[in-house]
Amino acid sequence: MDVLIIGAGPAGMFAAEKLANETDHKITVIEMGKESTFRKCQTQSMDLCTQCDPCEIYAGIGGAGALSDGKLNLTPNIGGDPESIHHTPKEVECYISKVDEVFLKYGADTEVYGVDEDDLSFLSRKASSNDIEFISGKQRHMGSDRTPLIMDKFYKDLKAKGVKFYTKTKIEVIEVRGKKFVAHSKDKEFVGDYLIVAPGRAGAYWFRTQARNLGITNQYGPIDVGVRAEFPATIYEPVEDIMYDAKFKLYTSTYDDMVRTFCTNPKGFVTEERYPDFVMVNGHAKKEEKSENTNLAILSRIELTDPVEDTTEYGRSIARLATTIGGGKPILQRFKDLETGRRSTWGRIKRSQIKPTLKSVTPGDISMALPHRIVTNIVEAVERLDSVIEGIASDSTLIYAPEIKFYDTKYPVTKYMETNIPNLFVTGDASGHSRGIVYAAVTGILAAEGIISKS
Ligand SMILES: Cc1cc2nc3c(=O)[nH]c(=O)nc-3n(C[C@H](O)[C@H](O)[C@H](O)COP(=O)(O)OP(=O)(O)OC[C@H]3O[C@@H](n4cnc5c(N)ncnc54)[C@H](O)[C@@H]3O)c2cc1C
Repeated sequence: MDVLIIGAGPAGMFAAEKLANETDHKITVIEMGKESTFRKCQTQSMDLCTQCDPCEIYAGIGGAGALSDGKLNLTPNIGGDPESIHHTPKEVECYISKVDEVFLKYGADTEVYGVDEDDLSFLSRKASSNDIEFISGKQRHMGSDRTPLIMDKFYKDLKAKGVKFYTKTKIEVIEVRGKKFVAHSKDKEFVGDYLIVAPGRAGAYWFRTQARNLGITNQYGPIDVGVRAEFPATIYEPVEDIMYDAKFKLYTSTYDDMVRTFCTNPKGFVTEERYPDFVMVNGHAKKEEKSENTNLAILSRIELTDPVEDTTEYGRSIARLATTIGGGKPILQRFKDLETGRRSTWGRIKRSQIKPTLKSVTPGDISMALPHRIVTNIVEAVERLDSVIEGIASDSTLIYAPEIKFYDTKYPVTKYMETNIPNLFVTGDASGHSRGIVYAAVTGILAAEGIISKS
């Protein structure tokens, strides 16, 4: 049987691995980006991403996962929801251990964070006394400098096992032809008995159109819109000693909206995430090279019901507006300026003690770009978070915008990630069921198990 996999991120690669190990199916992985070691952003400045098409931070062998910070969240509580994929947390934990074993085999650091119960309960108490929820869990950090090498070893091993990869090949249209799936690139046609779609966030919008044309059922969920805060690394050290990427969640007093911190990068770097019609920010940290700053995302959850449910379009229009206000670059503002409704200038930013790690930005006024409700939520959240990350609400904390997480188009799936079209599986971040490397990989394994169960 022929299995086609679109996208070589963690979801696609873990699906390929399971199938290559346990079946004699012919597996073809089609990836629009390059091989991980040829992706420029890995060896040079992430800022070079502006010159790549598609953006090499998120496209290429290893997916966004290969050029990400490589923080592995080894708990079912972070990065997905067991219930939405019809598994118990215990079952997901088993899959997570399998994913972890693979990363360790290819060279992930053996050190784990977030395991000292006394420290975790101390932080949890401190957070809850300020009405903040602390979400803890075991973590491993591979680092954005080492992750591409780990993914490259994984890729070479898959090739040695007979998995056929096509790089720099973008699938434009998916067609169902009788009982077969046909994936069309500009100049090639791939035919398979099974199709695993794993195009990540970069391909989620493209897949939405394909899904509509194919009659795949979908639902809309919330999106997270916000900013990335950057502050001196010393401020975060007491928390980092307890959990490398601590997750905090709170409800704001004005709107009672949920705001959460996400993707903390101790001594890391803020980076851009460039898409064809807008630019956003993200962050990463390396194992070897350290900056003097720590960054984290602060995201406000948005749900739409009536008359508009399509949160993707809403999020995209915010991203486009922010990109217009920023003159094609992310906007940078000091926290004090955001709080007082004043535009930041390079003069004011240079006077403060924190040097931005992302230079290709426009000092400006984030309240011109993000809805008032989100700005209010962000300001309140930063002020409240100061009780657990002491100093984060200082005047000179740098705020970059926009950071938006699109996980909103969710496809109802079976426990094997199969859609309402038999033999078509949707996995990883594009499925709406994962928000990180480990869960994406788990959904890939589940799809592979689905195919194995039919063989
Ligand atoms: C800067 C940054 C830092 C991050 N840090 C972390 C972190 O520390 N920890 C964590 O857990 N998560 C992190 N993430 C998120 C993580 O990278 C993703 O959640 C994860 O990679 C999702 O895996 P995936 O396989 O679903 O998709 P992806 O990894 O996005 O891979 C999808 C692949 O599909 C390809 N593709 C898309 N459309 C097509 C098409 N039409 N034809 C062919 N190929 C296509 C893309 O080029 C891409 O290579 C980070 C993300 C970024 C951008």
